[in-house]
Amino acid sequence: MNTHAPYRTIPIEPVVDEGALFEIRKKIYPRAVHGWFAKWRWALIFLTQAIFYGMPWLSWNGRQAVLFDLAARKFYVLGMVFWPQDVIYLSILLILSALSLFLFTAVAGRLWCGYACPQTVYTEVFSWIERKIEGDRLARIRLDVAPMSLEKFVVKGLKHAAWFTIALWTGFTFVGYFTPIRELGVRAITWQLGPWEAFWILFYGFATYGNAGFMREQVCKYMCPYARFQSVMFDKDTLVITYDRERGEPRGSRPKAVNPRDRGLGDCIDCNICVQVCPTGIDIRNGLQYECIGCGACIDGCNQVMDKMGYPSGLIRYTTEDALARGYDAKAMWRRVFRPRTLMYAMALLTIVGVTVQSLAMKNPLKVDVIRDRGALAREAAPGVIENVYRVQLMNTDEIPRDFLISAKGMPSLQVVGIEQPVAVGAAQTRLLALRLQVTTDADAKARPAAAGERSDRDAEDPFSAGTHNIEFIVQSIDDNQVARHEKSSFIIPR
Ligand code: SF4
Ligand code: SF4
Repeated sequence: MNTHAPYRTIPIEPVVDEGALFEIRKKIYPRAVHGWFAKWRWALIFLTQAIFYGMPWLSWNGRQAVLFDLAARKFYVLGMVFWPQDVIYLSILLILSALSLFLFTAVAGRLWCGYACPQTVYTEVFSWIERKIEGDRLARIRLDVAPMSLEKFVVKGLKHAAWFTIALWTGFTFVGYFTPIRELGVRAITWQLGPWEAFWILFYGFATYGNAGFMREQVCKYMCPYARFQSVMFDKDTLVITYDRERGEPRGSRPKAVNPRDRGLGDCIDCNICVQVCPTGIDIRNGLQYECIGCGACIDGCNQVMDKMGYPSGLIRYTTEDALARGYDAKAMWRRVFRPRTLMYAMALLTIVGVTVQSLAMKNPLKVDVIRDRGALAREAAPGVIENVYRVQLMNTDEIPRDFLISAKGMPSLQVVGIEQPVAVGAAQTRLLALRLQVTTDADAKARPAAAGERSDRDAEDPFSAGTHNIEFIVQSIDDNQVARHEKSSFIIPR
């Protein structure tokens, strides 16, 4: 008889090597590339940076053309002044940005990432400086593996000094959008910057230095959420940078004089130039990858190789999944690029732009807020004279001073008292007034009709009955009939 307890089988977990929790970055040494897409990229770099660095130095009506004055809560954009009440325009701007992103991504993938995103732009600028100081790909690889020497120290020091200067200038320019840049410049030179100004210049400068100098493609690969959700905006008719596998494979090296078909080869000579020029270090021949920022460098690189080999260009090119699968010609492909989806985005975009431009052109430069003074209730100022107190805020969002007349209607004998008229409001200024409205409840006044406006049945019977009466303030510029506001309020007759 077996007195031993039966052996229990202890499950042994298979040993799983989970590896590192993150991939150790291999430094990328992109090779210089020239071509049509590189020219486009540089054109957009010049355009965006000319706007970014130049705009705060422009003047308009004697002040900075673009200034986001957070302290005064006024945003100056060329001839327009936006107040907190204009937050709708910020919402419209965000909607337009989102719609543009949908449209351009649906048409041609990551156009924004490849040509206009600040991360791409500054990485390109910093890489250019790096190439000019350290040399192209091979020279940089050799320099990095070489032991430290005086020459290496000087070369690296020069590069970092140039990066640092651009980064600081970028931080300075950024802060110059929020505080007048000329005064900021004087304070910076005389070491009199405020603590917040100094903090933001350094913060933005270091962010530029770190992101464009060191992080580079890692920002796109690991930090930017757009790379992750872009695929939902693609479909089979979206233009994406694609390697033509059918034409390129089987890949392999061969002398220029040899016909690749004689050797059973495709057009790809497996030179790896497309990988070497890629700023994210990927091989586009492996298909569309989320790391691809759509910069077109591999197209330029491969086209140069195709030219040298005497093959037609476009082994790597912008094309659509359907065009490759079904063999569409360029005309058929472009017809599908402008499909209902992209046309709808474009229509929505144009409509919102049109409405916004019209609304900005017709924007009333006068804003009025009327608040009944709840601390001072309705009272009898004199026998038969009832008075209510109000606080009226006038905002002249124009860049010229204006004089306004304030009146009220809705009850017989209603008149504004307690302020001197006209009321002057400076350019882009606000003025808060405490004023009184009075009605005279004598028989003559009852006989007089209200100046205008709706009157309830109750008012028709007795315009001075106890309770709340609807009235309207009218604020009118004396030098421009178009600048006026009607603001609803109420007047209380005590019991
Ligand atoms: S694969 Fe081509 S388009 Fe994509 S990031 Fe690399 S070089 Fe740019
Ligand atoms: S650059 Fe063109 S030819 Fe060279 S490896 Fe890339 S796809 Fe092939």
